[in-house]
Amino acid sequence: MRKPFISANWKMNKTVDETEEFINSFIPMVKDITDVEVLIAPPFTSLQAASRILKTTNIKLGAQNIFYEEKGAFTGEISPAMLLSAGCSCVIIGHSERRQYFMETDEIVNKKIKTARKNGLEVILCIGESLKEREENKTFEVLNGQLTGSLKDISLEGITIAYEPVWAIGTGKTATKEQANEAHEYIRKWLVKNKEGADKLRILYGGSVTPDNTEALMSEPEVDGALVGGASLKPDSFAQIVKNAGEKIRVNNRRMSV
Ligand code: PEP
Repeated sequence: MRKPFISANWKMNKTVDETEEFINSFIPMVKDITDVEVLIAPPFTSLQAASRILKTTNIKLGAQNIFYEEKGAFTGEISPAMLLSAGCSCVIIGHSERRQYFMETDEIVNKKIKTARKNGLEVILCIGESLKEREENKTFEVLNGQLTGSLKDISLEGITIAYEPVWAIGTGKTATKEQANEAHEYIRKWLVKNKEGADKLRILYGGSVTPDNTEALMSEPEVDGALVGGASLKPDSFAQIVKNAGEKIRVNNRRMSV
């Protein structure tokens, strides 16, 4: 069984002090949970402070973006070496907010993934359809296009996929567990057909995940975890999501022992 993976995406929230305060409260809340992989992706400015505190824990540190060149005259951009030196082991690429507000195309996303992987960073690749696309029954067509473009010439090692329907992000409208699983199933089939090692890759759901809906979403066979925005900003709510995600493993273990 794939280990559940819960990732916090803080977006443009939290100063250095707020980051330290969050992490210092969060660590004791999840210290006994070993059956869930946890990652926090704060803003760039908080990475180093977060890394100093997380160093003695199993909680991973991720960035929310990266540039596809390794160094040079690219004012305002961040390279893989900078992320590694700040303590990151992972980077979120292709979030719908980057696609929408910063014109990131699948081609750019593909270049970013290649640079990140070349430098040993793990990647959470975000894909998902808009409300209009869902209403026009184009969900699978959109996912196919994003997977084809973003993963061109890329092997699946070190990659996690986050299915994030754009209409569910920050709106309070969660996809039903059946809608999430249907999209995840499509993604899994696409990967099995087109790439090696698809069974090991984790597919996270993202879009208004809260402590109250985590267990139901995670009960679906193809939902391996969650990428959490709003509900990851408070230590107790994020810790509860992590705990609830572990229930998937506990239920599975109980089943195996009968
Ligand atoms: C996200 O930012 O990836 C996200 C899913 O946000 P929220 O949980 O707030 O919908």
